[in-house]
Amino acid sequence: MRIDLHAHSSASDGTETPAELLATARAAGLDVVALTDHDTTAGWGPAEAARPEGLTVVPGMELSCRWFPIDQPPISVHLLAYLFDPLHPGFAAERSRLRDERLERGQRIVEALAADGYPVHWPEIVARSDGGVVGRPHIARALVAAGVVDSVDHAFATLLDHRSPYYAAKVDTDVREGIALVRAAGGVPVFAHGLATKRGRVVDDDAVAAMTQAGLLGVEVDHPDHSEAERVHLRGLAADLGLITTGSSDYHGTNKTTPIGACTTEPAQFEALLAAGTGSAPYRD
Ligand code: AMP
Ligand code: FE
Ligand code: FE
Ligand code: ZN
Repeated sequence: MRIDLHAHSSASDGTETPAELLATARAAGLDVVALTDHDTTAGWGPAEAARPEGLTVVPGMELSCRWFPIDQPPISVHLLAYLFDPLHPGFAAERSRLRDERLERGQRIVEALAADGYPVHWPEIVARSDGGVVGRPHIARALVAAGVVDSVDHAFATLLDHRSPYYAAKVDTDVREGIALVRAAGGVPVFAHGLATKRGRVVDDDAVAAMTQAGLLGVEVDHPDHSEAERVHLRGLAADLGLITTGSSDYHGTNKTTPIGACTTEPAQFEALLAAGTGSAPYRD
């Protein structure tokens, strides 16, 4: 069994439609893939309709959150959510708020770049997102297309980095509130790439313990952005706190170089996750 529990489609910042993503997953020999677009469930219906025979698809999402340390600025944390009820009103309202927030913040970044002469235009970027939830990868692609930078990676390392003068933050969900919403909707909250120091500041063990108190059920241990030492640490922490451990690629199509299935989840951990999710069911044969 090869199980990859974190992948993005064009419903957010991946480059493949949900149907294409599932075909890629099957061609790569996966048995299970989770669709986890940022702040939206818009890909669920198309994924269910296009599911290739033999492939199990777990409906999921990646919620943009923040952890608030006592003595430091907030830290960005991503919360994977699986098998929740997409119609739960409170959770649906929070996703909608986050999508509005993304539009407002994307426009601010792009207009600041344009004001300094960079040839990027917000309406074009929105049009090219094809209805998907806009993120910095869409802005990065526009910068590549305009010849300003030579790759998406280069855009993230320079103009779109969180220390860049053009960067604007979004007002993400307090992670404890996010965890509570996912649980209220019958879902399984899993802390995504929690120790990925290459992405910026990360939370400490006490924060993960507090998140567990708030209802967190799992941590993503095997992730392309985690070093071996970070994985060992997270695995130990998960054992101490009684959390499910997952592994996944965080596939984004050609927006990143990671192939689908680059990291995978153990079947017993997947079974525990399935048993904990009551808000929706996987799509399977
Ligand atoms: P945003 O959610 O708009 O703040 O943008 C962050 C998104 O960009 C996340 O989904 C990351 O997976 C993605 N991302 C971060 N760094 C890179 C990179 N170097 N290349 C491509 N995508 C990236
Ligand atoms: Fe992303
Ligand atoms: Fe993420
Ligand atoms: Zn992701």
